[in-house]
Amino acid sequence: MSIRTRLTLWYTGLLAIALLVFGALLYSLLSSVLVSVLDDRLANQARNVITVIQAENDPVSVMLSGHARLPPIDVFASQYYVQIVNIDGQPVQQSDNLQGRALPLSQEMISTVRSGRSGNYTLDLGQGVRLRVYYTPIIFAQHPIGAVQIGQSLSNMEEALAVIRSTMLLGSITALLLAAVGGVILARAALRPIQYISATARQITMAEDLGRRIPISVPNDELGQLTNTINDMLARLETLFQTQQRLVADVSHELRTPLTTIRGNLDLLRRGAVDDPIMRAEALSAIEDETGRMSRLVNDLLLLAQADAGLKLHFEPVELDTLVLEVYRQAQVMAQGNLAVRLGAEDQALVLGDADRLRQLLLNLVDNAIKYTPNGGQITLTLKKESGWVEVAVHDTGIGIAEQDLPHIFERFYRADPSRGRPGGSGLGLSIAHWIAEAHGGRLEASSVPGQGSTFRLGLPLADTDAAPVIMDEDPEFAIA
Ligand code: ADP
Repeated sequence: MSIRTRLTLWYTGLLAIALLVFGALLYSLLSSVLVSVLDDRLANQARNVITVIQAENDPVSVMLSGHARLPPIDVFASQYYVQIVNIDGQPVQQSDNLQGRALPLSQEMISTVRSGRSGNYTLDLGQGVRLRVYYTPIIFAQHPIGAVQIGQSLSNMEEALAVIRSTMLLGSITALLLAAVGGVILARAALRPIQYISATARQITMAEDLGRRIPISVPNDELGQLTNTINDMLARLETLFQTQQRLVADVSHELRTPLTTIRGNLDLLRRGAVDDPIMRAEALSAIEDETGRMSRLVNDLLLLAQADAGLKLHFEPVELDTLVLEVYRQAQVMAQGNLAVRLGAEDQALVLGDADRLRQLLLNLVDNAIKYTPNGGQITLTLKKESGWVEVAVHDTGIGIAEQDLPHIFERFYRADPSRGRPGGSGLGLSIAHWIAEAHGGRLEASSVPGQGSTFRLGLPLADTDAAPVIMDEDPEFAIA
């Protein structure tokens, strides 16, 4: 069942229930009010009759004789039926319009009269004719000696109620029909934009055109928000799709070069180089280099894929100063004496992190610094604490990074002019470093002056438990050349 039909059925149903409850309440209230108005009128008329009886009789003689003289009662009977009964309930006088038929008075009612109280009842005369009857005692010297009964047909009131009933029924049916028709129209109008949105989304899926967006007519209503969400989702899908395509292209490209080298060297070996010890050694070493490069690339890719899938790091307190010292020593080995590696200011700092990943990050930065700094240059490592943060900087005096490359160097496979520096990189090192920094709630930033050098700054939040005193080295520089 469509939403439109369901909506229409729901609110038509609810309206029907509301009308029914309201109509029933109103009708019963109205009929009870009409009956009580009628009862008041009957009581009034009964009082009139009693007043006349009392005026025409001397109470003492009535008490003595036990009889009262009754007035002609037809004058009271223009629209009423009047009957006077004695204290046993026997009719003693009736208005002519009763045509000899008695207004009944049950034993219970006679007792009511004897106790000096009034009452009323509805008399069904058959064939849909009903009378409302009021009875009240005739009292002389505080003794009830009989009763006056006044009746009136309910037909006028019932006719009025019947008209009201049918008007209400007709009105309710009309209201329900209008609600159903209006509901269908409203639901259709309200749901039309959704149909449009889903049709456009379907077209986008069929055309596989993730660049298209659904136009938004009213940006702030619920449908505008839905469209916005779908458009955001499309944008994200588009980016992911493009990234994936680029990744596949980049990976194939990256793998092609080492594979070509390996195949070339294998060819060389097959064509006789295997017998020449020098050529053989060169070919095998080239194959070894390229396979090493390929496995590095595959490992990096694997790590990034795991990072994308939400790889959890193992956090523990890490003494960052000790880690920086380790990296500094390793950097000295990696620099092979071609560059000066220095350790600048080094504060003590405790962070919560994954020591292996942080080491990998710093080694990546140091590796790049060494790769992109010509022999004789200098690399400096510093560690400084500042208001809840610690910053590790790797500064080099290398070739630097051009301004237009700087915003992209953390992107996967991005390499600023691959012909520069020493080969061997895949363009993934900084992406991995950036991910590690972010996974620690930190940041990694680069600044550079082309031709003069670059600085990479890693900022990490200090561990809360870090109570270690800050020791500032005034001139803590170590250097090797
Ligand atoms: P690669 O494996 O190519 O070094 P990275 O992701 O580590 O890949 O670095 C991306 C690019 O950023 C490098 O290709 C290089 O152009 C630039 N780059 C990174 N570090 C430095 C640096 N210290 N000096 C100059 N350029 C750098």
